[in-house]
Parts: sequence; C-alpha cells; structure tokens
Amino acid sequence: MSKTPPPVASALLAERADAIAEAARELAAFGWTPATSSNFSMRIDDDLAAITISGRDKGRLGRDDIMVVDMAGKAVGSDHRPSAETGLHTQVYRRFPEANVVLHTHSRTQSVASRLFASEGRVRLEGWELQKAIAGYTTHESVLDIPVFPNTQQMPELEARVDAWIDSGKPLYAYLIDGHGIYTWGRDMAETRRHLEALEFLLGCELDLRRLAP
Ligand SMILES: [Zn+2]
Repeated sequence: MSKTPPPVASALLAERADAIAEAARELAAFGWTPATSSNFSMRIDDDLAAITISGRDKGRLGRDDIMVVDMAGKAVGSDHRPSAETGLHTQVYRRFPEANVVLHTHSRTQSVASRLFASEGRVRLEGWELQKAIAGYTTHESVLDIPVFPNTQQMPELEARVDAWIDSGKPLYAYLIDGHGIYTWGRDMAETRRHLEALEFLLGCELDLRRLAP
C-alpha cells in the first residue's frame, strides 16, 4: 500500500509539476522527447522527488502526469508507475545534494552521439566556448568528459556504472547511455535547462566535426 504524501509534499508537488510540465513542453517542441520517451524530475525535499509518470506524452503533461517517489525510487501516495528509469533520477539526488532537477531526453543528436562515442566510453569536449555553460566550468580550455555507459534495461547495472564513475573521483555533470539519450542535472530548472541545451549543442558540433573532418 502506498502511503499518503506528507502535507509539505502536496503543497510543493503542484509547483514542481507545473515547472516540469512547462520544461517538458518546450523540450518536446524541440523534438527531444519522441514517442513518449524521456523523463523529468524535481526534488521536493531531502526524502521526496516529483517525477513524470511512465508513458505519458511529454509535450502534453499536466499535474496529473507527475507523481511523488522517495529517494529509493518507490511511489509515494500514488498507485501509478513511476518512470522505469526513476532509480537514475533518485541516484542523482542521493549522490549530488546540490542537485534539485534532473532532465533526461532522447534527441536525435544525443542518440547518434551516444552510438558514435560508445566504444571510447566518453565524449571529450575541449576548446568549445559553450563548455562555460556547465556550472563550475569557467574556461573553454578545460576538458569536459561526458561518459557513455552501455544501455541496459537493468537499472541497478546502470546505477552501478554511474556510482563507479563518481567514486573514481572524476567530475560528472551529465552522461549518455548508448543508443538511448542523455541525463543531466543542476541546482534549479534554469541551470539544468542550460546544461541540457549546451550539451545538445556541443554534441551536435562534435558530430559535425566527424562529418566534415573525419
Ligand atoms: Zn530513457
């Protein structure tokens, strides 16, 4: 049986749901969430997050399409099924206390880049001015590695790979999943949107370089 969310969650849930729906509408309009793919979440507090319900059209989300999960990814106060990838969202909130928003999309650029760079295990971004759009990056001279993890339907396997990357001490701002899409996060929706848009642009530039100067 799912328990009733505490009052603080219901008060904040509508606000979070509206913010998720607005972002999702815009990202869907970019064509980054094809065929009900992608999922979005926002932290509510230390213990709870709001996340999209599985299988909904991300261009037409309303408050009823967002549910509450705990930090173990379990539904709270709802019989709906959270996104199959909920564990990847709650992992970000557990591992990065400063993160309050997680956006996961499946754009064509993200998907193609994930295939192209899968064998290298990462996309190395270097020398692009737009790297400065990523929080903590102040110069285009730094190296920004975006890991590419193998795709699997077993979320614990993916979570273990993400944990291993973080535990190795390497910075992590986003990751690609091979043949699948991208995950990125930030302190608020604006920062996370900036990360996602910058990464989409940078991955597109890397693809163009391979096309034009192979
Ligand atoms: Zn996905």
